[in-house]
Amino acid sequence: MQPNPLLEMNGLPPFHAILPEHVEPAVDALLASNRAAIDRLLAAGSSPTWDNLVVPLETLDDHLQRIWSPISHLNAVLNSEPLRAAYNACLPKLSAYNTELGQNEGLYRALQQLAAGDDYERLDTAQRKFLDNTLRDFRLAGVALPPAQKERFKALAEQLSALEARFEENVLDATGGWRKAVTTEAQLAGLPATAKAVAQQAAQRERQEGWLLTLDFPSYHAVLTYADDRALRHELYRAYVTRASDQGPNAGEWDNGPLMAQLLALRHERAQLLGFASHADYSLATKMAETPRQVLGFLRDLAARSLLLAREELEEIRNFAREHHGADALEAWDINYYAEKLRRHKYAISQEELKPYFPADRVVAGMFEVVRRLFGLDIRAVDDIPVWHDDVQFHDIYDGAGELRGRFYLDLYARPHKRGGAWMDECIRRRSLPDGSVQTPVAYLTCNFTPPVGGAPSLLSHDEVQTLFHEFGHGLHHMLTRVDVAGVAGIGGVPWDAVELPSQFLENWCWQREALDLFARHYRSGEALPAALFEKMWAARNFQAGMQMVRQLEFALFDFRLYLEYDPARGPHIQEILDQVRAEVAVVHPPEYNRFQHGFSHIFSGGYAAGYYSYKWAEVLASDAFARFEEEGVFNRATGLAFLEAILEQGGARDPMELFVEFRGRKPTIDALLRHSGITV
Ligand SMILES: [Zn+2]
Repeated sequence: MQPNPLLEMNGLPPFHAILPEHVEPAVDALLASNRAAIDRLLAAGSSPTWDNLVVPLETLDDHLQRIWSPISHLNAVLNSEPLRAAYNACLPKLSAYNTELGQNEGLYRALQQLAAGDDYERLDTAQRKFLDNTLRDFRLAGVALPPAQKERFKALAEQLSALEARFEENVLDATGGWRKAVTTEAQLAGLPATAKAVAQQAAQRERQEGWLLTLDFPSYHAVLTYADDRALRHELYRAYVTRASDQGPNAGEWDNGPLMAQLLALRHERAQLLGFASHADYSLATKMAETPRQVLGFLRDLAARSLLLAREELEEIRNFAREHHGADALEAWDINYYAEKLRRHKYAISQEELKPYFPADRVVAGMFEVVRRLFGLDIRAVDDIPVWHDDVQFHDIYDGAGELRGRFYLDLYARPHKRGGAWMDECIRRRSLPDGSVQTPVAYLTCNFTPPVGGAPSLLSHDEVQTLFHEFGHGLHHMLTRVDVAGVAGIGGVPWDAVELPSQFLENWCWQREALDLFARHYRSGEALPAALFEKMWAARNFQAGMQMVRQLEFALFDFRLYLEYDPARGPHIQEILDQVRAEVAVVHPPEYNRFQHGFSHIFSGGYAAGYYSYKWAEVLASDAFARFEEEGVFNRATGLAFLEAILEQGGARDPMELFVEFRGRKPTIDALLRHSGITV
């Protein structure tokens, strides 16, 4: 094999040396050598042990991760035509390799033999957990099925991915397939200048005069929130909520109805092939929640506690609309509009007012100080590390004992050829190496804040400050792990409904006076965040929390019941379940023609089928964990270390409920979330 800079396995990725023309050959070479190594492993015929089977497999996986991670990261943050082409050329190869591995019966049998043999007893908790997870995933991929059923399973998997793709295409086509030309500016009264500019640009792109309103979310959202013209709001509402359905202006044209019925039927069949009663049970096989009853009980409990407030909030909007605007009998397309007017009436606060108090450098330093106080961490900047852009900083994390625990790249600012949004990703995973040392975990933390201009620093909105803390929480989970088996270290192997715990947890410190006092100072005057602004920030945070809560619960209950109650003899009864859920938990009742479910990609084409509840589940964990800090002091070091040891260090090596109980001394309750959302006092 030719030496290749990408195959340099020691130390950090050589970003300067990752050239597009190296990418495909490097990936090809590694996949080929991994395949050969797996064949050799399985042909060896010796009785499988952790050291002769799992350790070599982990090493192969780690090499692939260490080659692919910097490539896919660069593709996201320093995109170019040649790199994108090389990246895209590798995707099908990687997916074929992963499918092959996930369907490798020889591997499955060898791992099974290991799990059933004497060696299993000698494994530690993390090793057992990794082995159990791997065998579970093999079973969920149909590997253990008898031949005829396995064929059916494969056919189902193929049909499902085709249906999911078509569902998504229909939503996209239906969204793009409707627009409204506006020729008189008066019709757009109420819209902010930015929204009007977007509409004007859309018209110009089509070589039209005036403005073009579309169903892209920002356009739709701006009209529903700000447009004074009620008929216009109604028109967009009707077009939006009937996308890809049998109703509305494009009725029947991209109708997802038949696809939804098929998706439900096939997912149900797949779950039953694997021995589950329903797709909901199948979904829970990899989650922290244990039974459907538990999920339903959880959602209904939250609903019962939130409904009263949600009704009061809706009543407040109605009263406000009547008293201040003479508007009666509000419809679904009026709620957002008057809610926004009410919000501005009650809390005249804008993100712009807060920005001068959050210069980016100071926020980052303040966040490091927060985790120093909480967990005893010492974060030091390191120069001379190869990075992909001048903006990127590199840091090492040392713990209280002076041990290097993790390292991370921090890439804060938006720039051309960088994907939008914010995320944490794994660069290198922690694991023990054959020589007895431990591989230090490395993370990428990526944001898209406005860069500093001229002499002025970058100023963050409070939302952006929260985003930074959120991603850093994920990063700490990845980097502070003490688990030495890569597959269950850090965020590895952590169930979906628990993985947002550390990130949402850390956000809480952006809302604490004591924490804000460490960094929230006016960038010119140095003045601390005024008390009045701080109070408004809090009031605005929980504005209509009850209505927001029941809306999310409506989605989550609908999703879960849809999959749990599916009965092949009856077929899908999607609208019926949705109507029942709305009767139970909704306060806003949409018109008959509403077909929001036809565009609900999360649960039909995304990964959230029978898993939408995860959002709320994780919020409850994060709120309840933070409540212990409220009780014992938000900077109580002992409490911080307890969280570090029970949650952040444990990765996915132990059951998340067990870990939570270890930290909290009891199982989670919804009380703290309700209190933090202002739903209860
Ligand atoms: Zn997150």
